[in-house]
Amino acid sequence: MGWNRRGFLGGLLSIPGAAALLGNAAAQDAARDVYKELGIRPLVNAAGSYTYLSATLLPGPVREAMESAARKYVNLFELQEAVGKRISALVGCEAALVTAGTASALTLGTAACVTGKDRDKIRRVPDTAGMKNEVVLQKSHRNGYDHAVRNVGVRLVDVETVEALERAVNERTAALLFFNVHEGAGRIKAEEFARLGKKLGVPTFIDIAADVPPAENLTRFHKLGYDLVAVSGGKGLRGPQCSGILMGRKDLIEAAALNNNPHTDAICRTNKVGKEEIVGVWAALEEFLRRDPAATWKEWERRCKVIVDRLSDIPNINPETFVPEIANAVPHVRLTWGIPNKIVPPDEVQRKLRAGEPRIELRAVNQYSVEIAVWTLEPGEEEVVAGRLRETLKGK
Ligand SMILES: *Cc1c(COP(=O)(O)O)cnc(C)c1O
Repeated sequence: MGWNRRGFLGGLLSIPGAAALLGNAAAQDAARDVYKELGIRPLVNAAGSYTYLSATLLPGPVREAMESAARKYVNLFELQEAVGKRISALVGCEAALVTAGTASALTLGTAACVTGKDRDKIRRVPDTAGMKNEVVLQKSHRNGYDHAVRNVGVRLVDVETVEALERAVNERTAALLFFNVHEGAGRIKAEEFARLGKKLGVPTFIDIAADVPPAENLTRFHKLGYDLVAVSGGKGLRGPQCSGILMGRKDLIEAAALNNNPHTDAICRTNKVGKEEIVGVWAALEEFLRRDPAATWKEWERRCKVIVDRLSDIPNINPETFVPEIANAVPHVRLTWGIPNKIVPPDEVQRKLRAGEPRIELRAVNQYSVEIAVWTLEPGEEEVVAGRLRETLKGK
């Protein structure tokens, strides 16, 4: 475990010359604890890939790639192009661009549909007067992330049916936008939505931020005919938290790149991605595709079982493994409280785990249930979570 290793390395470091023998990365790992210096208590993440919980931990090969990227100067245009080519080859799409997260990909993809490669238009946005400046989406798909689309200066047009969508499309329509996480809520499903775009001659754009794994989702929406697909680098792909990928049609990706950093007079100059993250998301994608999904899935199920088994004899609590249908569609544990409630309620469990040592974060869904993510745990932490939950739930 990390603690033991650090303890061991820390001991070695007091021996002169040992740091050089260990190599820089290991020595730094052993020598410095930035969170301790800052007085911030790190946490065991049993909640999931939440942005405010810093979403994910980088696997070793990703950290190594980023470390390698950090050592030399490069031309960022060349780096974006080279990484874009590697990512498109891995995914099997025409072109790709590393962005500052899915939110930034939403801004860039929209900008691409509005401005194309017209330099004058690119300089003018978010003033979109006289440009294609309407984006059509289903009313049930509206959510906080559509702010990233509105940043471009477009008007969102809400529709509920196929007929309304067809009526809403006109010469000012820049794109049709779909949030995969809301597929269940809308009448028009992902497949039909892409078809409508083709039929009406309007680019279709889909947000699949948290829908990888499964790996198939990286290719599925290109095959369905979406012109642009946005995915987070820092969620299921386990790349840098501030990274994302915009992928799809070559001309649109080129237009998006013109709207992006390092161009100065462009809407996404504010969404800079550094060389370390550009390389990091590529390395994360490679690492993600290298891993055996069946083995990973089995490991997640095993972790769930550890927690479920440890809590199975607690009266009034029903622990079970479940897989969300969409978004973070990997094995989780759900604890459901019986009625009448004679045990510590969910919000108190959450508070107690947060206050304890180590600090554990999980999701109190409502007054009857708690959800536990195991895919964001480090190996062995499922035992810690199971033990603390047991202790806490038996405490009343
Ligand atoms: C997380 C999320 C985003 C934002 O992704 P970032 O990579 O954090 O910018 C956008 N859309 C949906 C549906 C998300 O879940």
